[in-house]
Parts: sequence; structure tokens; C-alpha cells
Amino acid sequence: MANETEHPATAVVGAGLAGLLCARQLQEQGVPVRVFDKGRGPGGRSCTRRTPAGPVDFGAQYFTCRSPELEPLLQGWLASGCAAPWPARIVVLDGGQQRAEEAAPTRYVGAPAMSALAKQLAAGLDVRLESRVLALRRDASGWSLQFEDGRREGPFARLALALPAPNAAALLEGCSALASPAAAVAMHPCWALLVGFSEPVVCDFDAAFVHNAALRWVARDSSKPGRPAGDVWVLHAGPAFSRTERASPPERVSRLLLADFARALGRALPAPTFRIAHCWGYASIPDPLQLGCLHEPGQKLVVGGDWCQGSRVEGALRSGLAMAHTLAASR
Ligand SMILES: Cc1cc2nc3c(=O)[nH]c(=O)nc-3n(C[C@H](O)[C@H](O)[C@H](O)COP(=O)(O)OP(=O)(O)OC[C@H]3O[C@@H](n4cnc5c(N)ncnc54)[C@H](O)[C@@H]3O)c2cc1C
Repeated sequence: MANETEHPATAVVGAGLAGLLCARQLQEQGVPVRVFDKGRGPGGRSCTRRTPAGPVDFGAQYFTCRSPELEPLLQGWLASGCAAPWPARIVVLDGGQQRAEEAAPTRYVGAPAMSALAKQLAAGLDVRLESRVLALRRDASGWSLQFEDGRREGPFARLALALPAPNAAALLEGCSALASPAAAVAMHPCWALLVGFSEPVVCDFDAAFVHNAALRWVARDSSKPGRPAGDVWVLHAGPAFSRTERASPPERVSRLLLADFARALGRALPAPTFRIAHCWGYASIPDPLQLGCLHEPGQKLVVGGDWCQGSRVEGALRSGLAMAHTLAASR
């Protein structure tokens, strides 16, 4: 593994699932790689938040594995125990009515939390956290990265950007033609609320897709395998509400989402013991691309993430594989 002063051949910016799987694939093929992320932990939108009741899945709630190319990864995760099936009772709440889901795929979760997936992928990789890239520069010797704290790293012969589309577009502006296809991909915000209750919410399901004024999804986090006991729920708002209330104070949003939850259930909720609200700026993608990753061969640059391959965790992982494959083929 490269030391502080010498730079490995490849840099990956973004330690979400796409960037980590890309880096891991490259490292397994003997390509030295260094990963950078602005966050304090790896995982991006598939992360876990500490709460008074223990860690709770804050972004991605579960994942599916319909794609055969991900089967070996899934089997490895299941064998190591960092993922498990979530045999949840999931319903649809629509206009005061409750109905069963029509066709349900097998759903999996990280164990003991969604963050376990990123931790497993990051193990053994050179991952530099709290490293926000502010600018990229490309010259004859390769790519250099300029960080928020003033430091610079590079040159790297190859670069993979595994970021939400608007973040990638901002970094690529002025230095790559890939800025414009990335900028053309829209991403919706999502208000998320984690809430603990003093006593269990009375209902006969573990999670629900909600078609209400504000909410899109509610889940009893404690129904997932390996979670701490207690009644902790995750509430996700839909894109329209999240856009309208994007700049609202968390207290207001918590109040509106809890009221909407009570309305969807048709009964009052127990008293909350804690509430943590956060608005994800770039949560979901209405029209994701279906091409694996963007590639600029002359610049030895790939750009990817869930928005490049059908969205969601499965799309992020498939994009990670596509980025690694494309970069390895360009050596
Ligand atoms: C609220 C919510 C609910 C969701 N629910 C589900 C679900 O139930 N099932 C499902 O399959 N998917 C779900 N998703 C989607 C899923 O989380 C994503 O598809 C997946 O995690 C995307 O992975 P990624 O690696 O492409 O991007 P990300 O996870 O966004 O990773 C990108 C990384 O880049 C880093 N970064 C950004 N800019 C910079 C910079 N300038 N410098 C350095 N680092 C930077 C970020 O910190 C981040 O770690 C949900 C997402 C959200 C937000």
C-alpha cells in the first residue's frame, strides 16, 4: 500500500457503496488505490445515525439483489454476517386504507446496521475521511485533488468520481466534458425523521409505503435483525413535501411528519422520547441513467454512482462494478 508521500495510481472520490466497491475491485486486481470522502465515516447515503436508542438506519432502509452480477457480493455479505434478510411485514397505506404489497422482492439489510456494508467494503482499503475535494486539476502528469483544508494530493494517473450527480457536475465543471451529462441528472431531496416512542406504536406491520400528504415511507427500525430493542421508527417524506419544506426548521418538519404518520395510521401516536430530523439534499433520482458509468478515456476518468445505473443501493453497487471494470480496461 502506498505511503503518505507517494501516490497510488488511482484515486476514488466518494466512499459510498459505489466508490468503495469500485476501489475494492481495483485493489483486488492489484491496482493501488486511495479513496477520499468528506464524511466522518464511510457509507454515504447508506449510513447509520447514533440515537439515544442505539444506531438507526438514516438513509437507505434495505437493499434488493435482482442483478446476478451482485450475487457473489451478497453471498459474501450473508456468509460474513454483515447482511441479513429482513422478512418484514410491509404494507401500503393509502388514503386511510391499508393493503398488502402486490409483489415483494427479498429485502436485505446491513447487520447490525446498514453501515456494516460500507465498513465491510472499506476494510483493508486506504480510505481518507474528512477529506472534502473542492477542485480537480488535470495536466500531463495526471489528476490532482484540492481539498477544503488547503492540502493537495496527486498526481493520480486515473480518477473515479463516485458522487451524487450534482456534486460530480460541480467538480467536473471546467475540466471535463462529463460535467454536462452529470449536471443533466436531477436528484430529489428527502426529509428523514428518526423517532423513539415511549411505548410501541400499535400496528400490525413493520414498514409501510405511504401515499399521504407528506410521508412516503415509515419503518420500525427495531424490526430489523440485530437491532436494539425499543420502538424506534424512521419516517421519510416524499419529494414534493421535502422540496417545499427544504429550508424549514427540523422542529416544524418533525411535527408535520408525526401528524401525517398518525393520520395514516388513523390513531394517535405514543409520546416521542427523541426526534432527529435531517434533510438529504440528493436522495433519489427520478430518471436515472442506465449505462453503468460515464467515461472519458483520454482523461482516464470515470464518473458514477446510483444515478448512473438505475438508482438505489443495487444501482450504486452495479455502477461501482462498472467504474472498476472501465478503469481497469483503460490501463
Ligand atoms: C433517505 C434515503 C432513503 C433511501 N432508501 C433506500 C432504500 O430503502 N433502498 C435502497 O436501495 N436505496 C435507498 N436509498 C438510496 C441509496 O442510499 C443510494 O442509492 C446509495 O447509497 C448511493 O450510493 P452512492 O455510492 O452512489 O452515493 P453516496 O452514498 O451518496 O456516496 C457518495 C459519497 O461522496 C461523498 N462526497 C460528496 N461530495 C464529496 C466531495 N466534494 N469530496 C469528498 N467526498 C464527497 C459523500 O460524503 C458520500 O459518502 C435511500 C437514500 C436516501 C437518502
